[in-house]
Amino acid sequence: MLVLSKRDLDIIRSNAERAYPRECCGLLGGQRETGSWIVRRVSPLENVASPSVTDRYVIDPRERHGAEERLACDGLTLVGFYHSHPDHEAYFSKTDLENSEEFQFGRPWLPPTYAYLVISVKKSVANGVGVFVIREGVAESIDVSIKVEEEPCPLK
Ligand SMILES: [Zn+2]
Repeated sequence: MLVLSKRDLDIIRSNAERAYPRECCGLLGGQRETGSWIVRRVSPLENVASPSVTDRYVIDPRERHGAEERLACDGLTLVGFYHSHPDHEAYFSKTDLENSEEFQFGRPWLPPTYAYLVISVKKSVANGVGVFVIREGVAESIDVSIKVEEEPCPLK
């Protein structure tokens, strides 16, 4: 299960809508526990895929490095990635699988390391969300739990 606050989901939604019709991308920082990925920070990053950024995403490696260092400074680790699918559903494509960290580093058979959130954007409006992990070399959909922060106590 991926645990995400409503506030962080809203950051991803607005990033996806603003980037439309291009794909947006970013990091999910937080903590990983057995079977769950707890997101505590979303870091939107530049999509530097070229020439086409409507159906590809490549995270700027320098930006990513900086964002990972900031996570480490705050005691968080990289738990996953997100990107958008302009005018497509929130599925995990063959390209997404091939470009996943697990495949890039040649270890898709180990237990899942990262969670991959995909958000669909239709006509510039953020739509459904899917979250996937790579298990035994294939993408497996996992549940998402959206947490709404409690309102601060009203002053009396
Ligand atoms: Zn994709």
